[in-house]
Amino acid sequence: MMILDGKATSKAIQEEIKEIVAIRMASGQKRPHLAAVIVGDNPASRSYVGHKIKACEFVGFDSSLIELPENIRQDELIDEVQALNDDQAIDGFIVQLPLPDHIDAQAVLEAVAPEKDVDGFHPINAGKLSLGIPSYLPATPAGILEMLDRYAIETAGKHAVILGRSSIVGTPMALLLSRNASPGNCTVTICHSRTQNLAEITRTADILIAAIGKPHFVTSDMIKPGAVVIDVGINRIEDSTKKSGFRLTGDVDFDAVVESASAITPVPGGVGPMTIAMLLKNTLQART
Ligand code: NDP
Repeated sequence: MMILDGKATSKAIQEEIKEIVAIRMASGQKRPHLAAVIVGDNPASRSYVGHKIKACEFVGFDSSLIELPENIRQDELIDEVQALNDDQAIDGFIVQLPLPDHIDAQAVLEAVAPEKDVDGFHPINAGKLSLGIPSYLPATPAGILEMLDRYAIETAGKHAVILGRSSIVGTPMALLLSRNASPGNCTVTICHSRTQNLAEITRTADILIAAIGKPHFVTSDMIKPGAVVIDVGINRIEDSTKKSGFRLTGDVDFDAVVESASAITPVPGGVGPMTIAMLLKNTLQART
């Protein structure tokens, strides 16, 4: 059984990016510059954005954090997005999700200039992905592909079952794994909250990807022996032994599933760090 170490893999990718930045700097080019917009005080969002900014520092990118109040109006937020679109110093930017309920997140994401949309959430980039045209790939599914690639996990001809159909994880993951590419060439099944006989389907998965946001949902009886298990979930569960009062756990019951999987990602330290590495990669691409 192999632990797919996203933390170490992300670090290796960040070292590679750092080297590219250093070479570019030596030839007089500009540093890539990523901006992140955060609205309100959601502690999980703050933590994710903090990690992204720290990673920028590590690889030698410039970064900007735009902190906006929870009660900002949608038109004001879109004005901020427009200002970033127009700012020549910024190569790419993200609007950290979720946004407060009074804001239509889709309208905000559509206001982002597609060429600066390093999260790959704009309909133009999502459309390009679905047509197989090169585009910014959404960071989480791209990170999973990269990890499968770096760990030399065969995907061609395999049955990949994806739990969750969100536009940022499940759906683009299905598109990427079904492409005629490497990694890719999987036969893909997408499951969601209305799927019947879920365990029967997951037991046929050579590669099982869980992205539903329910702690320990995937249990050992849902796994085919030897399956590759990718846990995207990040769930905060109470833990009085921790100073913070909580700990992070995935959608997979890791301790039970680890016995039958051939490879598995931990949480934390699996898909999460890979997501950050792919955001940096997109920003590097935005600068070229
Ligand atoms: P969403 O809430 O947008 O989507 C969840 C999906 O899971 C939906 O398609 C939903 O189905 C499906 N679902 C919910 N319950 C069940 C069930 N009982 N059986 C089968 N399917 C179910 O979540 P996201 O895709 O944004 O995120 C999923 C998880 O991944 C979260 O824990 C999130 O924190 C984490 N995440 C981690 C990232 C990382 O970097 N590691 C990045 C992004 C997300 P339906 O469509 O029918 O409602």
